Amino acid sequence: MSTATLVERPQPLYQALLQQQGRAAGRAIPTPIPIPIPHPLPVVGSRFLIWKQDPSVDPPGLRLSYVPSLVLDGPRDSRIATELPNVTPVHANTNRDFIFAPGTPEADCAHTFAVVRETLAMYQRIRGGAAIPWAWNIGGNADPITAFPRAGVTANAFYSRGLKALKFFYFTPANATQPVYTCHSLDIVSHECGHAVLDGLKPGWLGATNPPQTGGLHESFGDLTAIFLACSQLDQVDAAVAMTKANLHDRNFLAALAEQFGAALGSPQGLRNADNDLKLSQVGNEVHAISQVFTGAMYHVLADIFAFEKNRQAAVKDPTRVLLEVASCLCKLLVEAIVKAPPVGATYADVVNQMLAISKAQGDPAIYRTFLRNRFTEREVVVSPVPLTAMAEGRMNLADPNYTEGQDLVKMEARKHAADQAPQDRSACCGTMQLPEYMLGDQKKLEKGVVIVEEDMIAAEVAELKKMFAR
Ligand SMILES: [Zn+2]
Repeated sequence: MSTATLVERPQPLYQALLQQQGRAAGRAIPTPIPIPIPHPLPVVGSRFLIWKQDPSVDPPGLRLSYVPSLVLDGPRDSRIATELPNVTPVHANTNRDFIFAPGTPEADCAHTFAVVRETLAMYQRIRGGAAIPWAWNIGGNADPITAFPRAGVTANAFYSRGLKALKFFYFTPANATQPVYTCHSLDIVSHECGHAVLDGLKPGWLGATNPPQTGGLHESFGDLTAIFLACSQLDQVDAAVAMTKANLHDRNFLAALAEQFGAALGSPQGLRNADNDLKLSQVGNEVHAISQVFTGAMYHVLADIFAFEKNRQAAVKDPTRVLLEVASCLCKLLVEAIVKAPPVGATYADVVNQMLAISKAQGDPAIYRTFLRNRFTEREVVVSPVPLTAMAEGRMNLADPNYTEGQDLVKMEARKHAADQAPQDRSACCGTMQLPEYMLGDQKKLEKGVVIVEEDMIAAEVAELKKMFAR
């Protein structure tokens, strides 16, 4: 085939134009090659303006965030609704975006919806995209969860299975003039949504008759949800990596949880900090403190894996990309371990052993399991068969993916503590763990995911009273 057939000649009209312009007629000119392009899909997503941490944390500050799924006025979709009397439904603009002046009631509705949606999407993505049910989505029930961004005045927030709701309150701190809205905090909104996601996966874990560590897993999952959500967002990860020069033990907003809320209560480092060193022997049966032991160990494992992988992949990947990837892997490992853990009464060791087994089965480097073993031994969760002197003395070979501290373990003994069988002390927990439905509700029904409303509890008491008064 000659080149003449491959190169189109100018059409007569165009040729005339070329001649008019004094350009060489008949010369082959470049023509666009018709490359098939994908048929454009309708744009269904919406943009939201959200605080990536909370109003007190900048960077990352206030950013535009894209939710790529269909969001209706409310905002609402098939899984999440929003309610604020006299304000909802909040209407999207003509571009289907929910962008309002920060701090207005409309913006609070949009902000809360967006963070709940991002949290649910994160967990569904790491589980392959399938819908994660809310606890009441059983027997064909598909009711959404309803977020209440301004539920009332108090310094708290909670998830309630009975109300099928996430409620966020606001309060004015002493010596302040402006209220603090808990719905402005990505950490608080994702923490409460984390309780809801975990209740869907493990309905038997919320009841107060579980041992203290099961309660600790619930509280910790809320905090880890906030950390993993931030670590799933490129802008947040990039800001944290730059802030810390890629060292997660430097002070940063990923480890500090609910900064504005904490500052209002006198804790400038956040309400809680995941970069802690608490051990089980230091926390007794107080669930909120126990949760920090698990959160701290997981955060340290994240920092360890990140340190290992950013060195190993230094020539081929930017640290930001490495952190995005390792946080997603660790989040997935935790969720899959939780799914496989016992339906009631789960302990930290149950979840750690599942993480070790899954990590081995999926072919992670052995050093990942060494990090898990070291950090959870250090926290007095499990017992290592050999002393962890190499880690204590800083001699661990962080460059060796097969490093095992003697043996690649996939099952470890739980370390026993006096508080293991004590009742849960939930006095310092978030609002979720203090709701009567989980303390006083029928525990057997709770374990099956049945919705227990407070009226049911009163009705049960009335039935008891009737029996008593009949005598
Ligand atoms: Zn909580």
